[in-house]
Amino acid sequence: MIESTENDKIYIGSTSDFKERLKIHFQRLKKGNHPNSNLQEDFNKFDEYTFNSYIIELCDNYLEREQWYINFFKPDYNVNKDIEIKVSDKEIEKFKTKMIKKENGCWTHDGHEKEHYKTIRIGKIKYGAHRLSYFIYNGPFPNYLRVLHKCNNKYCVNPDHLYLGTDSENKIDAVNNGLGCKVNMEIARFIRSIYSKECTSGKIPEVIKTKFGIEISSRNVCSILSNETFYEERE
Ligand SMILES: [Zn+2]
Repeated sequence: MIESTENDKIYIGSTSDFKERLKIHFQRLKKGNHPNSNLQEDFNKFDEYTFNSYIIELCDNYLEREQWYINFFKPDYNVNKDIEIKVSDKEIEKFKTKMIKKENGCWTHDGHEKEHYKTIRIGKIKYGAHRLSYFIYNGPFPNYLRVLHKCNNKYCVNPDHLYLGTDSENKIDAVNNGLGCKVNMEIARFIRSIYSKECTSGKIPEVIKTKFGIEISSRNVCSILSNETFYEERE
């Protein structure tokens, strides 16, 4: 939890590595590019040292517990945050004209099918095409929620095939969809952060086993590194 002592507003988050996660939060806040715009706004207004951070619970199922705390406390920094998409009618029109409606009911955008998720830049911010589509057809939604696919086609932007969920639902989806990937978003982020010439994708399963005690395949690693799974479109 991050708390502003200036206005008592709180932010709830979950992580397998509190120190590291906190470091990343504050690095982003200092750079001014934290994905949580409410927290960023207050950070810009108040002194860095007026923000406190606490561990409120130690547990294994931290994503579920995070959601529980968010539902319970309705923290100011987490809730009341519609997605910060400022998109003009002209941009919406442009988005719609680039839509390709497939026979199977899925819509893809701009012909991208076999590459990374399509992202669309509006102003300074890149959005996942599916996230943008959800916003255009269903209106604003809380920023901490993910836009997930019912159709298992991650390139699909048909709003009827999209639904809102949490990180843990995304994880369950990945397992249900046969990816068999036991990691969560935190581990996916970790994998991306350590990937380099020194720590090649081949070495990563061993590092993960040592650090988190779980076995993942090099295929899992590759799908994470290529953004096929646990893609982060919010940051
Ligand atoms: Zn679809």
